[in-house]
Amino acid sequence: MPIGHRCCLNHSIDAGHPLHGKTVYLPVMGEGGSEIFAAIFRRLGVEAHVTPPSSRRTVELGGKVTQGDECYPSKVVIGDLFQAIEQPGFVPEQAAFFLPTSEGPCRFGQYVPYLKKVLRDAGYGQIEVISPTDANSYGGRGAVTNIFTRMAWRGIVASDSIHRLLLKTRPYEIQEGSADRVYQESLEDLCETIESSCDNLDCQLCGLVESLARARNRFRALPARYDRTRPLIGVIGEIFCRLNTFSNEDLIRRLESYGAEASLSHVAEWVAYTSNEQERQLRTLGKTFSLEMLGAKVRDHIRQSDEHALLAPLEEDLRGYEEPKVEEIVKLAWPYLPANGVSGEMVLSVGLAAYHSKHGADGVIDISPFGCMNGTVSEAIYPRVSRDYGGIPVRSFYFDGTRSNLDRDMGVYLELARSYHKTKPYSRTYPECFTPTRDNENAPDRKPPRQVTRDSSGRILSALGEQATQE
Ligand code: SF4
Repeated sequence: MPIGHRCCLNHSIDAGHPLHGKTVYLPVMGEGGSEIFAAIFRRLGVEAHVTPPSSRRTVELGGKVTQGDECYPSKVVIGDLFQAIEQPGFVPEQAAFFLPTSEGPCRFGQYVPYLKKVLRDAGYGQIEVISPTDANSYGGRGAVTNIFTRMAWRGIVASDSIHRLLLKTRPYEIQEGSADRVYQESLEDLCETIESSCDNLDCQLCGLVESLARARNRFRALPARYDRTRPLIGVIGEIFCRLNTFSNEDLIRRLESYGAEASLSHVAEWVAYTSNEQERQLRTLGKTFSLEMLGAKVRDHIRQSDEHALLAPLEEDLRGYEEPKVEEIVKLAWPYLPANGVSGEMVLSVGLAAYHSKHGADGVIDISPFGCMNGTVSEAIYPRVSRDYGGIPVRSFYFDGTRSNLDRDMGVYLELARSYHKTKPYSRTYPECFTPTRDNENAPDRKPPRQVTRDSSGRILSALGEQATQE
């Protein structure tokens, strides 16, 4: 059980605050993140709920109020928010929707104005939309905003970390479902820790570090058989689609069922990138020695010191799984992109493809919505990245809510990754748990991965599911 930290001040919003008496609804982006944000709102005295799980109804509702040429994530987000509107007890006058935004360079900057328009057209113009922006690197002013921003950053780092532990453990678990169960327990522990935290920043940090240490111990206690022959696939691409399991048809679980392990790019990396980008833009505007630059530097320093403290208990367990430094990603992307005028997801995607290659991954998968500008540009660059990094297989998968033949494509792709695994020029760093011990050597085998069938000439015909293979 988390330890409560109620010893100090507990700052909540006051009666004059625009959110007083409101209920905040948060659409799901990735696993865990929305629950953490809901906990932060509740900690500040605001009722908050995550929208109902995405379903066919999401696509139906999203499709009904959009035109069809919007990016797929906006359709899913709007569909999920309209699912919340359909919930019994929903009161539009008391509701607020939470949707972070970005100024560009693509259509992401239009999500919030578009959501407001859709709500107005549907007769729900009274619903407030709360939208932190990357223009100030998701910072803001005012006591409550400052508390929220700091908690949000810590919550993002913590939730990304337990998700990393999940992805690192699940492919090797011996009891099916055990890693998911432990992840859920750890997420609830984090949420309870946030809700019961106080305003004292050290006290708050201490509570989160303790919660992460408990998560680490739960994962360590899981029986698992780690295996260095399993290919590691870096999963990158458009932030919403790669994190949202509904949008990407649970691609990571499919990868795991075919015998791979995934290293997913999480949310913290985007926040760190926006901070780096803000400083770059200030330098371009000749504001290297300005108050704005000082503010940006201070925020960045605070973020890094929080991150360092939070990750300390996980250092050994996440060795080889560390969050890439944004400076390194940007540097790796530069040879492939024009030096000026390019920013956003494509810088991260191209830089991360190179990063995963250089750090010993066996393949890279880009997940993007169909028609995504960033995904299309990045896909055109990946063959060069692959050529420069020893022929690593880099593959883009696009999603738009229509069924694809993902299983077949995945099986074929994994065959390429397995071949590359045997000849790759870059080695991977493993944490201690991958070192064979008497215990895990004697552990029973997990389910076999799915298999690929070939014709007599060795050409891949199809990838079979476990049931078909057994038959
Ligand atoms: S990154 Fe792609 S999918 Fe996301 S808003 Fe931009 S263009 Fe649309």
